[in-house]
Amino acid sequence: MKLSKIRMTLFPRTCAICRRGACCGSVPICGHCRDDYRALLREPCLFCGLPPAECICPHNKQSRFLFWYDSPLSHRLIAMLKYHAKRGRVQFLADRLAALCTERYDAVTFVPRRTSDVRFYGYDHARMLASCVAKRLELPLIETMSCHTEEEQKLLSASQREKSLQGRFRVYFESPEQYPRLLLIDDMSTTGATLRVCSSLLRKAGFQTVSCATLARVPKLYK
Ligand SMILES: [Zn+2]
Ligand SMILES: [Zn+2]
Repeated sequence: MKLSKIRMTLFPRTCAICRRGACCGSVPICGHCRDDYRALLREPCLFCGLPPAECICPHNKQSRFLFWYDSPLSHRLIAMLKYHAKRGRVQFLADRLAALCTERYDAVTFVPRRTSDVRFYGYDHARMLASCVAKRLELPLIETMSCHTEEEQKLLSASQREKSLQGRFRVYFESPEQYPRLLLIDDMSTTGATLRVCSSLLRKAGFQTVSCATLARVPKLYK
């Protein structure tokens, strides 16, 4: 028996969704949660009625996403990524997301977390997701931006949020001509404002095109 198989039998991995059920093989989701996960990926778009992977709405051209952020299951998956991510679990989701990113890119980057959050949780979850997407697409992962303000974004209204975003991020990457076509990754998109602001900053800094992809998207707020 292979060492990895012995380890799996002795210490079965727990499910990325319920964190109780054991899973085997490369899928980090237990038998009980698997149908719910499949249903989540098929949940129709409010506008065109198609699942996220096939959505033909203009908003989906600006940014691809894997599932809607509107159910306990979607909340649990994002919480897993934010608070107790393990590389194997994240790679599983990143592989699905990467399959939706079908344009040509030269590098993958991400929307950085606040430094205080990275210090508190011990990692930047968007960076981890982007690194897994980059691995799948066989592209370099580059760090392009820093995040400055310490303001809590959740407490702001939509219009205040757009305003506070201006000046929050700074692009420090020095040779954008090396990677003209960029894929920008974030965990989720609430109104689309963060992705719009970051894409625009990256283009101003000299990257030619910036395509976006997130794991989840909030349906009602999205413009
Ligand atoms: Zn489960
Ligand atoms: Zn749609």
